Amino acid sequence: MAQDLFKKIISHCKEYGFIFQSSEIYDGLSAVYDYGQFGVELKNNLVKYWWDAVVYLNEDVVGLDSAIFMHPKVWEASGHVSAFNDPLIDNKDSQKRYRADMLVEDYLEKQEAKINKEIEKAAKRFGDSFDEEKFRTTNPRVINLQKKVDSLREKFVNALEKDDLDQLKQIIVDCDIADPETGSKNWTDVRKFNLMFETQLGSISEEATKLYLRPETAQGIFLNFLNVQKSGRMKIPFGIAQTGKAFRNEIVARQFIFRMREFEQMEMEFFIRPGEENKWFEYWKEARMNWYKALGFDESKLRFHDHEKLAHYAEAATDIQFEFPFGFKEIEGIHSRTDFDLGQQQKFSGKKLQYFDSELNESYVPYVIETSMGLDRLFLMILTASYCEEEIEKESGKTDERVVLRIPAFLAPVKLAILPLVNKDGLPEIAREIRDDLKFNFNCHYEEKDSIGRRYRRQDAIGTPFCITVDHQTIQDNTVTIRYRDTMNQERVPVNELNDIIQDKISLKKILGKLNK
Ligand code: ATP
Repeated sequence: MAQDLFKKIISHCKEYGFIFQSSEIYDGLSAVYDYGQFGVELKNNLVKYWWDAVVYLNEDVVGLDSAIFMHPKVWEASGHVSAFNDPLIDNKDSQKRYRADMLVEDYLEKQEAKINKEIEKAAKRFGDSFDEEKFRTTNPRVINLQKKVDSLREKFVNALEKDDLDQLKQIIVDCDIADPETGSKNWTDVRKFNLMFETQLGSISEEATKLYLRPETAQGIFLNFLNVQKSGRMKIPFGIAQTGKAFRNEIVARQFIFRMREFEQMEMEFFIRPGEENKWFEYWKEARMNWYKALGFDESKLRFHDHEKLAHYAEAATDIQFEFPFGFKEIEGIHSRTDFDLGQQQKFSGKKLQYFDSELNESYVPYVIETSMGLDRLFLMILTASYCEEEIEKESGKTDERVVLRIPAFLAPVKLAILPLVNKDGLPEIAREIRDDLKFNFNCHYEEKDSIGRRYRRQDAIGTPFCITVDHQTIQDNTVTIRYRDTMNQERVPVNELNDIIQDKISLKKILGKLNK
């Protein structure tokens, strides 16, 4: 069911110009996507919502746009050269490449599914008198399976924590794990694979410097911490926000735009006094969750998920997860990063990255709270939450189906469609005049082909919240109908009031007002 929905969303994205596979005519480039004519509008509107909420609403947050290329030492200092790795394994027969940890995870999930199946079977057999807890602790088969799963999980976590690649390979061999696509068990050793893309600066190969495409935007913020602080006369606490491309050579990239090799991040680093990290961690956790809730979707699909195993730099970390068709998954991470990043960049560059706190009369390397989200994952969340298939009744009494994207009006790619009822009698001319007037304020669409019903359906499918229809009455009294996407209700309104009506309904100010404290 859920997988069906996911497939439908993917094909809807292509059919209606939201997302295309990159280099499609060459059979595509794996895990790289292009945003089409409506996708780019939605994406821009999402960036604006984030930027206005994070930068404009907060007196103490400013923006930045740092370069993708940075000095290669940056990534040594940040730990990415030595530690931004995934364990990789190849199958010698099929030549297919996998993430070794994912193969074991999948195996563990299958074993757990076996246990659940035993329990389901027993529940059916015993009916109302079934006691699951008792069954789990007394049924020999279930006890045995559970013991195996627990001991394997312990070994697995141990191998990951110690970075023990031989142990990871041994688990794959001991569990008889086969290539999921071919069944072959002819594996290579497990190797570490660094996720950063490399390139070169300079034209003469001997003199060229190895560079990396940034795997996160955050380091560009850390490098500019003092530049921004001094030139903007910023006082701690303050934040720097930026949006931009990041690149990761993901080993297995499935799930459409959820895991891409080239993607976009929206990150904010908030610099604070050491010792105040708990207060600010809680503050940003709440602020960020409220930002999602203000979108008005079903809140039960959002949750926090605390990290069990913390990254080397983090003191505390939580994810904001959304329930995608393939389960609850991370959209944004909120991390308490201590003085790790500034401290490391200071050490490797030999340049001081400190702040003089005049109230305390001392200098220190500030602590940092980070909020880091993936724009593409947010995009997928909006589509998943907005996609609806509905049965509607036609005037003839028959039923019809419509697909509608219930995207919040302020985010919708096209705000209004202007449609002459028929393609004659001067109606197209009036419709174009209305468009020419409103185009300065909104992304408007003009369409005259096909029946009015079909045109409404098309606009529903791209999430246009308002359709303005020009009919013969317009010629007489200068009124038009405005049709609302979600209710399909129609209202007759004077042309000269359209601007104010729509302005009010797509107001970003109203949404931001909910977040303003
Ligand atoms: P995951 O565990 O899913 O790989 P991560 O923990 O490595 O993600 P972070 O390094 O915390 O992710 O990056 C911050 C955000 O960037 C994530 O919350 C996610 O929204 C986004 N992101 C990370 N990797 C990708 C990717 N390959 N494709 C799309 N978005 C990504």
